[in-house]
Amino acid sequence: MKESVNPATGEVIASYDEMSEEELHTIAQNAREAQQKWKKRPFDERASLLQAVADRLEEHKDEYAELMAKEMGKPLLQGISESEKCAWVCRYYADNGEEFLDDELIESDARKSYITYNPLGTVLAIMPWNFPFWQLFRFAAPALMAGNAAILKHASNVTGCALAIEELLHEAGIPENLFRTVIAGSEQAQKLIKHKDIAAVTLTGSTRAGKAVAGTAGSELKKSVLELGGSDPYIILADADIEKAAETCVTSRLINSGQSCIAAKRFIVVEDNFRPFLEAVISKMEEKKAGDPFEESTDIGPMARESLRNELHQQVQKSIDAGANCVLGGAIPDQEGAYYPATILTNVGEGMPAYHEELFGPVASVITVENERDAITVANSTNYGLGAAIFSEDVTHAERIAAQELEAGCCFVNDFVKSDPRLPFGGIKESGFGRELSHVGIREFVNVKTVYCA
Ligand code: NDP
Repeated sequence: MKESVNPATGEVIASYDEMSEEELHTIAQNAREAQQKWKKRPFDERASLLQAVADRLEEHKDEYAELMAKEMGKPLLQGISESEKCAWVCRYYADNGEEFLDDELIESDARKSYITYNPLGTVLAIMPWNFPFWQLFRFAAPALMAGNAAILKHASNVTGCALAIEELLHEAGIPENLFRTVIAGSEQAQKLIKHKDIAAVTLTGSTRAGKAVAGTAGSELKKSVLELGGSDPYIILADADIEKAAETCVTSRLINSGQSCIAAKRFIVVEDNFRPFLEAVISKMEEKKAGDPFEESTDIGPMARESLRNELHQQVQKSIDAGANCVLGGAIPDQEGAYYPATILTNVGEGMPAYHEELFGPVASVITVENERDAITVANSTNYGLGAAIFSEDVTHAERIAAQELEAGCCFVNDFVKSDPRLPFGGIKESGFGRELSHVGIREFVNVKTVYCA
């Protein structure tokens, strides 16, 4: 049984029976058959269906935002933007997918030789609750455009969103068996990975889940793409525009109430900037309004689940016990709901959860370093490697560090890390492998086939 609980109130809003093994088997089998037909449909037909999906996402954005607010506490306006961004990624691949998958002629000894891209088959998508629509669409838009089928196993707390996504795709005209939502736990997901009709798997979620999924996929020699956690460093160099850096760091840290894999998690500041930067960060964090996700003025909603809020608080507590200073927030508010206040820890250093682990909530960790070299060393001293940002008025210098020294998949200069359909997205080290989005993302779930005609 899966329960959806409103994290702002603790109220159970719906419960769902898990599907049986037999049902899952039939869904996988039917998806395979549907994919065999889908892959033969011309690109322009697939593209016009994706455009219809985008239309629906835009038309029903208020409804989807309400669903996200109820199931995982996302502030309403952020849910509306999420739905719009999903429409963007659908239109992007509808407009560009065919070109990205064009045959590529290559001169060789052959009369004619080239690369052609064939779809892999059915991809199982194991998705998290933090961006319940976006995480799915950024995978599904390119995967469907490339001619694959998709089966969604969503996080257990957002089954309502998972069913709404299935309904919207079908109502837009995507064939019924080509895209299915399954209501299943992680054990059943593991069995599905092994199912003969599943060709590949993609997971967005924790590193722990990533290792389990990649392990099973590897044992079956099935392709996997993993988009996992991060502990993104934001380096504030001596010549940075402090106001702008503080504003950007705070915005990034608080996106989705702090529950984003690419949020700014460690603010690494050179000594001379520490005081002015900290003051700017405190005042900007204090301005943010926490509260009911249904209020338009709310910046920070509740955490998605009470258990996640409690784990976050423990990480904060352990960091304080190990010597961090809490200069803002840090206490569970005395009110119903899974709320956690905007929190700032300073004096963060080695041995503390705030230094080594991912803090998935509105908690900023400030690490002070002597100079630029130390900043880069600290930035890279993590098991994660998803995003990173660097702030400096010498853009050429900062760009060199971003391009050559920071160990992460997405490195930004004077801005916060964000996903954009036009740019590849993904990480290295324990943040996963493979890329989503752009022309690179659409080539993840394809057979890169060499054709050689003598
Ligand atoms: P999980 O990584 O456990 O869940 C993400 C998805 O993976 C869910 O659909 C989950 O299913 C599924 N899953 C989990 N374990 C397995 C497994 N062994 N085999 C197959 N599927 C699996 O995230 P949590 O919700 O527990 O969040 C914990 C932490 O993970 C967060 O605090 C954060 O640090 C990180 N996280 C990172 C995200 C990102 O965007 N990179 C997104 C969400 C979380 P089910 O819900 O049924 O367990």
